[in-house]
Amino acid sequence: MTLAAEDDRSVADRVAAVRARIAAACERAGRDPASVRLVAATKTVPPERICEALAAGVRDVGENRVQEAAAKRDRVRGEATWHLIGHLQRNKAGRAATLFDMVQSLDGFGVARTLAERRPPEADPLGVLVEVELTGLPRRTGVPEDGVADVVRVAADLPRLRVLGLMAMATPGDPEDARAVFRRLRALRDRLRDRLALPLPELSMGMSDDLEVAVEEGATMVRVGRAIFGERAAERRPAIG
Ligand SMILES: *Cc1c(COP(=O)(O)O)cnc(C)c1O
Repeated sequence: MTLAAEDDRSVADRVAAVRARIAAACERAGRDPASVRLVAATKTVPPERICEALAAGVRDVGENRVQEAAAKRDRVRGEATWHLIGHLQRNKAGRAATLFDMVQSLDGFGVARTLAERRPPEADPLGVLVEVELTGLPRRTGVPEDGVADVVRVAADLPRLRVLGLMAMATPGDPEDARAVFRRLRALRDRLRDRLALPLPELSMGMSDDLEVAVEEGATMVRVGRAIFGERAAERRPAIG
């Protein structure tokens, strides 16, 4: 299926199509579709389009950059949970601790400590997922597999954080290659759950091209951008923040 050919459909129609894909994958896997949260990945997407997704029933918004989310969040009307899904630098962690409801891209001790220190006391503890790097590709962020237990343990001991699970990005390309990454993420979560005696209920994995495979392998959140909003214009480099 080519995404470009769908460009004239409304956001609502695309959300419905994504939900149907999730439901079909759940059916194959014997899962309840309500066990998979659809997180709309909204980098480069203007607030009005995000509102269209919320009007279509989306309740979770994933932004990649702290500043972009800060500029957009007040202009998005409607009930939503805001997730940070892009790499978080420590110097932006304080801001992220107030702006987001969940940080899916936790990848180090320093960031974890800053998030905990800066989470406002009146707010609920900040939900975090530890991002795991399982592809071996250059310039990928995330904690290598053998370091994940330590980051989970440190974050679990911090008072204002609640570690809820793991997140990963697969190798782009063939969804069946992604399957191997998703299996490893789930197996790692299962091992940590036993070893650390933490529930770790969440597995955030799967995007526009590989969400079915992710659902089959146990994703509880899929992060979907292009299949909801269409192809993005050429993406800016992460340094712009
Ligand atoms: C952009 C992005 C997504 C969504 O990717 P699509 O291919 O547009 O569905 C998911 N997760 C992260 C971390 C992203 O940066």
